[in-house]
Formats: sequence, C-alpha cells, structure tokens
Amino acid sequence: MYTTTSTVVVGPDGACLVVDPAVTAREVDGLAATIRARGWTPVAVWSTHAHWDHLLDGPALAHLPRWSADVPATDRETLAAERDADPELARNGGPPAPIAAPAIAFPQRSAGVLDWPGPPVQVLVHAGHARPHTALVLPDSGVLVAGDMLSDVEIPLLDLSADDPVEDYLRALALLEATDAELVVPGHGHVGGDLGRRLAADRAYLSALVAGVDIADDRHTAPWTAAAHAAHQAAVGP
Ligand SMILES: [Zn+2]
Repeated sequence: MYTTTSTVVVGPDGACLVVDPAVTAREVDGLAATIRARGWTPVAVWSTHAHWDHLLDGPALAHLPRWSADVPATDRETLAAERDADPELARNGGPPAPIAAPAIAFPQRSAGVLDWPGPPVQVLVHAGHARPHTALVLPDSGVLVAGDMLSDVEIPLLDLSADDPVEDYLRALALLEATDAELVVPGHGHVGGDLGRRLAADRAYLSALVAGVDIADDRHTAPWTAAAHAAHQAAVGP
C-alpha cells in the first residue's frame, strides 16, 4: 500500500532502529518477526513525521520508545479515524496496524546527532510535507532516509496548512541536497542512487505548479497523488 518502505538501521552488534513501520497489522508484525529472526535488537522506533501512516505500531514494537522531532502529541483517536477513513486502506482490505503511543523528542548526543548504540545518525528537521518532518542521514554509509520526501512515485506532497508550502518545500529540498547522499530511501517508492534526479524532478514539478504550466510527471497519476495534485493546483496555482 502506497509503495511504503519501512527502514531498519542496524548497528554492528544488531542494535537497530525501526523507521516508519507500516501499514497493515500483518506487515508490521511481519517486519517485527523478520527483525527477531535476524537476531537484531530494536532499541526504538522512529517516526519521520506525525501522519498516521508513520505512527503505526505492533505488539512486538509497542514496548519501545517512539522517537521523533519534538512534536505536539496528536490525539490517537483522531489519527485512528484518519487511518480508518483512508481510501487506499479500504481498498487494501487488510486490518491496519494500531496507532502508536505519542512520540517523544529523540535523545541527542550533540546537536542533531542521535544518541543511540548504532551507527552515527544525523537528524535533519524541516517543514517540507509536514511540520516538523525529519530525515535521517547515515554519514558512514551515505544513506538518506527521507520519509515522505524525494519519492520516485509521488509528486511533492505539500503541507497546505502552512503559510507558504512551496517555499517550505524548496527549503527542505535544499537541506536534503546538502547531504550529498549516495542512496535515497523514500518512505513511499523505491530506493535509488539518484538524489540529483529526484531533486530536479521535484523542483520542476513545483515551479510548473506555481506557474500553472502542465508538465509531464507520471508521479501524479496514482489516485492519491492525483487528488493531491488537484488540491495543490487549487491552493497554490496561479
Ligand atoms: Zn506524510
């Protein structure tokens, strides 16, 4: 569903960080079972941002701390209602994973550096797509875990409740560009070594949107991205 990617960052001794486990109960349970079968020890779950499909949980993960940027706790009932009203989830048919307990601010070794037993993780916080939204940079391996940014299957999905969603998004792209990551892991879509191409596609989409010009971008053809594209045109088009 939503070509969702859940990421597990694993340290040399098997300590691991589970990022955005999703979406159905069966998928989250399967992810936890795989982690167990590989002998890894999850120390925490990371939510890149506070949209319901990034705040899911399962019985094998629920005892772990849930880390994110400092974000006001969203009411679990509201999130569950948003989840249950989701048309893609209804189409998928499987029971969804439960909504996790509210996330807490992640522990920091130094400014923006995650304090945990695994490999170094630099946390970037920006306002593209959601406020706040985090990305994890793994400098040792050149990996950027981008959350709901830099997808090869989704157009930029703007936070239309912001004063200037396009400017926020462009600023976030600049922050992600500065990582110079070799491998991009989007929360929806496919892993790729094409950071530059993705940045160019997102910037082209946004400038066409603002100018009211149609461009060839097959990322707005899926039902949910088509709906988002129409909402963007209505909100920030000329
Ligand atoms: Zn999102």
